[in-house]
Amino acid sequence: MRDDVLKGLVALVTGSTSGIGRAIAHRLAREGATVCLHGLGDEAQIESAIKFVEGASGVRPRYFPADLANPASATALVDEVAHEVGGVDILVNSAGIQHLASVTEFPLEQWNAVLAINLTATFLAIQRALPAMVRRNWGRIINIASISGYIGVSQKAAYAASKHGLLGLTKVVSSETARTGVTCNAICPGWVLTPLMERQIEARASKDGISFEEAKTTLLATGTPSNEFVKPDQIAGLVAFLCSEDADEVRGVGWTMDGGRLASR
Ligand code: NAD
Repeated sequence: MRDDVLKGLVALVTGSTSGIGRAIAHRLAREGATVCLHGLGDEAQIESAIKFVEGASGVRPRYFPADLANPASATALVDEVAHEVGGVDILVNSAGIQHLASVTEFPLEQWNAVLAINLTATFLAIQRALPAMVRRNWGRIINIASISGYIGVSQKAAYAASKHGLLGLTKVVSSETARTGVTCNAICPGWVLTPLMERQIEARASKDGISFEEAKTTLLATGTPSNEFVKPDQIAGLVAFLCSEDADEVRGVGWTMDGGRLASR
């Protein structure tokens, strides 16, 4: 059912052709925002995301391609949305990648790619979107970080560095906007069953010579007290809350949603 709480607001969700970003785009459209989709993927995947979000609002969302491996395209992306749809009121930075390798074997090329997409592109998108939000005295910036913003799981040097960096960036933006109607927060999910996570489970299954299902069960059992994956829709619900008036004074947090994982360490 469509609710019009966010009517008249333009939301750009990076990485919304898949997983968590896709669920967030759907939820924001359901709340009445004019949602702009972004991300990579083949034609079928992009069309599927467009149809999914259209189903929430009855409005076909615009899709913007921008390869954030070249972080400068984040600036162009925000400009393009502003020019073609309207100034970004809600910026959700969800695009992200992962690469697994030990520190001693981590390829520089992969390090640079993870930092570029997960952190530098987010910085540049915020840098471009923020001045207009401050002028309008309203805005929401929500960075999808990770539990890896708090902890250092082996094989995730670049990912953990990028997500720790995102939390630092979130706090600084929050400090600099504290006297305005713009808020900046981060969400730190634990395991969420999306294509990004499925690739990690597949890698683990083939490394340990076990099935995908066995790898999934072991993964949950070793790290998540609730023994449940976080659902993309649950993260989308938290985004909707952070966009609400009730969250006007929620500023600079790195909000975990991890089945109790961080609390139990
Ligand atoms: P996903 O692989 O399903 O989606 C990633 C999205 O990012 C896709 O839309 C993809 O096209 C986009 N993307 C990737 N590289 C890009 C590039 N070069 N340029 C533009 N877009 C690009 O992954 P997901 O699980 O939905 O992850 C979304 C965010 O949530 C990421 O930042 C990830 O780090 C974070 N996260 C995921 C989990 C999890 O368990 N899945 C846990 C914590 C945090």
